[in-house]
Amino acid sequence: MIFRNAIIFLTRRCPLGCNSCNVGATASPGADLSLDQLDRFFARQSRYSLTEHLIWTGGEPFESVERLEYGIKAAARLGLQSEVLTSGSWYRVNPGYLEWMKGMGDFSLRISLDGEHQSRVPLGEIFDLIGAGLGLGLAINFTLRDIPGQDFDIWKVKSMILQKFPGLKDSSRRFHVIPHFYTRRQGKGPVQVVGQRWRRPCDQIGRDLIIGNDGRVYPCCGIFQHPEYRRLSLGAIEDLQLTELLELLRKRPDLDRLQSLGPAAELERLGLRVDELDWPVIQNPCDICFALWNRRSPGDICTAGPD
Ligand code: SF4
Ligand code: SF4
Repeated sequence: MIFRNAIIFLTRRCPLGCNSCNVGATASPGADLSLDQLDRFFARQSRYSLTEHLIWTGGEPFESVERLEYGIKAAARLGLQSEVLTSGSWYRVNPGYLEWMKGMGDFSLRISLDGEHQSRVPLGEIFDLIGAGLGLGLAINFTLRDIPGQDFDIWKVKSMILQKFPGLKDSSRRFHVIPHFYTRRQGKGPVQVVGQRWRRPCDQIGRDLIIGNDGRVYPCCGIFQHPEYRRLSLGAIEDLQLTELLELLRKRPDLDRLQSLGPAAELERLGLRVDELDWPVIQNPCDICFALWNRRSPGDICTAGPD
């Protein structure tokens, strides 16, 4: 099996602490991925056959700048390209980070944009960061998230970026849009999901190698918002051989169903409706998984994960 990227969560700390954070990052102290665990990953990485990038993220990866530097340099020594997924919140205080990092090896920036980020880090600051990064010859990409109820128009922001930086070519890799869906209720009827997008299979399982800041491997990167995400871990980096990892993915019928059919189909297989789910907000496919993972009775998904 070939993984597209390895996505490495260096930390779950982030000064912004957004309510809508999809990894539940906060400004509170917490353990970062250790250098020892990074070494163990790199000792095995050739077996994972990565085809694209090592993606360094968090939390805010620049909160763990020592590990970020260590990781980018180690990746570069092995001929691997790094991408750093960041909110850009550090740039105003530490603009010199960019130039300093440029000397470490081949890396690109992926800036995460959504309404909650931009209420704390204005777009003007992000534009300064983009301009400085492009000036240093860095590739800059974006992940855009349109959160229902927040004043943020992803298409408008994208067009503002392209107007301000006409040299940036538009592509799905450059502007990655995270999906969500809307729900509606008619009168006193059940809550219904609008549209068909939520019915898609989940293409994230097994696509990338996901390493949490606890040094454990996870089946997808959408799960860190769930308080019991450790239950879904496949094992620690140091314990897992690639063949074992594949076997673990295969042995989990719940993950197989999510991959081939998607969370909506899993919901229907269990005879449940969206309005019966116990999860605060259902606005993207991961929220359905979280609600399903909360259930523990026989026949539900993810009853077999490690404690
Ligand atoms: S900036 Fe990103 S990582 Fe930080 S709290 Fe907000 S959503 Fe989470
Ligand atoms: S939809 Fe479910 S399986 Fe897919 S990324 Fe989200 S939490 Fe993971």
